[in-house]
Amino acid sequence: MHQTLLRQFRDPELCHTLLTRLRAELDGELRFMEVCGTHTVAIFQSGLRSLLPPQVVHLSGPGCPVCVTHESEVNAFLDLAGRPGVIVATFGDLMRVPGSRGRNLKSAQAEGARVAVVYSPPDALALARDNPGDTVVFLGVGFETTAPTVAGTVLMAREQGLSNFKVLAFHKLVPPALEVLLSDTEAGIDAFILPGHVSAVIGTEPYGFIASRFGKSATVTGFEPVDILESLLFLAQRRRQGRAEVKNLYRRVVSDTSNPRALEVMNRVFRPCDALWRGLGRIPDSGLEFTDEFEDVDAKRRYGLSIEECPPLPGCKCGEVLRGRLRPDQCPLFKKACTPAKPVGPCMVSTEGSCAAYYKYQVE
Ligand code: SF4
Ligand code: SF4
Repeated sequence: MHQTLLRQFRDPELCHTLLTRLRAELDGELRFMEVCGTHTVAIFQSGLRSLLPPQVVHLSGPGCPVCVTHESEVNAFLDLAGRPGVIVATFGDLMRVPGSRGRNLKSAQAEGARVAVVYSPPDALALARDNPGDTVVFLGVGFETTAPTVAGTVLMAREQGLSNFKVLAFHKLVPPALEVLLSDTEAGIDAFILPGHVSAVIGTEPYGFIASRFGKSATVTGFEPVDILESLLFLAQRRRQGRAEVKNLYRRVVSDTSNPRALEVMNRVFRPCDALWRGLGRIPDSGLEFTDEFEDVDAKRRYGLSIEECPPLPGCKCGEVLRGRLRPDQCPLFKKACTPAKPVGPCMVSTEGSCAAYYKYQVE
């Protein structure tokens, strides 16, 4: 962002004014959930969390791709790693995410599995090109933001005739998860701050149900303190007025409409399917599987991987944290058995995870 603009979005005086207005609008506890891992970190990093009025309760939602990857899906990664002729290509964040028995890709690598950390799906494709005698399987996780890039890479692989590039696809779609969260009365979510980059792909229309069916408000917003405070003010105002609305307050980056090119690529390669989410369970039509045209790229089918639903790790409360029912520091393992150096659950692994943020910024 341009430096002058950036200063404006961090302007302490403006933040102060917005905080005063927010206090005046509050008519009780406002339990807001931000769905995006980057918002989690931004709220802590800017110091905003400690400045918010006590009635504003901040919940961190399932917006970190690593955190929502289900134990059973991690087990499938581990099942694949170490198979003869397979190189697993993955984003680094997934290396330390534990499966159901506490093992992770790092331990698999130490035991001899070929696991390569890549920075993008095209890097995994390059690996396939460089290793024609092996099969490179890219672990596809993430939301509507990453799925189009993975789909684009699948198209590139086909164009280049690289049949040794496969994808183990566990992408997830955000709107169906929001529906589950809103139906959960225990968490008592009043409003959402929606994920910016996901919204840049799908637009704001798919979120309409938040207001129409659940009577709650939500905003799409940026990552600077002024962005977040403006959103909270809007959410408090709408509630006091007894109105529910989904609003894009991030117009400098996100338009109200979807990105048709990204969606077209994604929908050519993938179609919706039921998916398992850590903490949220199986959600209908919240995942993506390969369309018939691309079934040859599907590592699940190629290696006959079965995704068996398994119980969470003993003692780990990530599921409760991701639902907004529990704060990270209320997990009995927080800072004791579970630290960023020795994470028990994914919320402590990922830099965008809420437990890691609580730990780093010493919130208790
Ligand atoms: S909106 Fe962007 S930063 Fe937030 S979770 Fe999605 S990809 Fe990550
Ligand atoms: S502190 Fe560790 S075990 Fe507890 S919820 Fe967070 S990541 Fe899971």
